Amino acid sequence: MPGSSDIHHDIEEILIAEPVLRARVEELAHAIAEDYAAKDLLLVGILKGAILFMVDLARALELPLEMDFMAVSSYGNSTESSGVVRILKDLEHSITGKHVLVVEDIVDSGLTLRYLLENLERRHPASLRVCALLDKEKVQDKPLELAYIGFTIPDRFVVGYGLDYAQKYRNLPYIGVLKPSVYAED
Ligand code: 5GP
Repeated sequence: MPGSSDIHHDIEEILIAEPVLRARVEELAHAIAEDYAAKDLLLVGILKGAILFMVDLARALELPLEMDFMAVSSYGNSTESSGVVRILKDLEHSITGKHVLVVEDIVDSGLTLRYLLENLERRHPASLRVCALLDKEKVQDKPLELAYIGFTIPDRFVVGYGLDYAQKYRNLPYIGVLKPSVYAED
């Protein structure tokens, strides 16, 4: 289908196909369910990128759990993180004494998440860990530890399954790379 009426048209390459994503989310859910079997789990989803992952993960987790959301934005330009983060939407409930698992879409430099974890740590959760769907391999020494990682990917800008470019492509059911022409149009 020609033109911008078809979002698949703008994708150069599919990096992680839908069934592969689905299978990995199931695996992560099983690992998390084992680790948190006797604990009250609170999933904290980071908006908006983690929304699809969060929903699928929660659905696959056969545990009594709570869900809350935060929205953050990095200052400065959008392709490189400064590590200075603004909280656009905070959690609705206290996390003190709770077993918190932060659900994130992608970790690049790790600076955004590090800031977030420092902020959450000050609220005294019982435990605080991270489940990231994607981890970019370019940075070797990340300033934080990721308890669960879906996929390690090369240093390319990806969209889909919650991840956007200029707020679009979040609804793609796979992780893909955009055609260079899409950037050139801006
Ligand atoms: P970091 O602070 O780890 O360098 O950047 C993390 C944030 O940058 C992610 O939460 C995401 O919003 C954005 N980001 C990093 N890499 C990508 C990417 O390949 N695609 C998209 N859509 N966003 C990315």
